[in-house]
Amino acid sequence: MTAPAESLLLPVPDEDGAPFWEYAARGELRIQTCADCGRLRFPPRPCCPHCGSFASEWRLMSGRGRIWSYVRPHPPLLPAYAAHAPYNVILVELVEEPLIRLAGNLVTSADAPLDSVDPARLRIGARVQVVFTETGGMSVPRWVLERP
Ligand SMILES: [Zn+2]
Repeated sequence: MTAPAESLLLPVPDEDGAPFWEYAARGELRIQTCADCGRLRFPPRPCCPHCGSFASEWRLMSGRGRIWSYVRPHPPLLPAYAAHAPYNVILVELVEEPLIRLAGNLVTSADAPLDSVDPARLRIGARVQVVFTETGGMSVPRWVLERP
């Protein structure tokens, strides 16, 4: 028996999060927004934690943010990740709502490998811009430095 080829893990959209991935497939970063009080919320969920409304829409973001924090994972890792180590995982706070933080990877371009950024360039507060990487049939948000 041959083991299946190892690959990076892919998101598994649930009912609430499915629109996020559908917009990502169009190259749009959209965040669920309360249609009553207007507050953004993430991760997606049925009910607004601020006003209790079940009405929501998906607001288009600028795709800009700042690195709020980061880690550089080292082995032991899943085999597909070990091949890229040491790489980075960043938390990005969105300019529209800094309390919303998305996890992702800082790369040099949408199609660049996970270890494409010199670790010396990782800096909390650095301005980043979203890009979308096609992988495994999905469009996954990653991030590039605004000033490479
Ligand atoms: Zn609300």
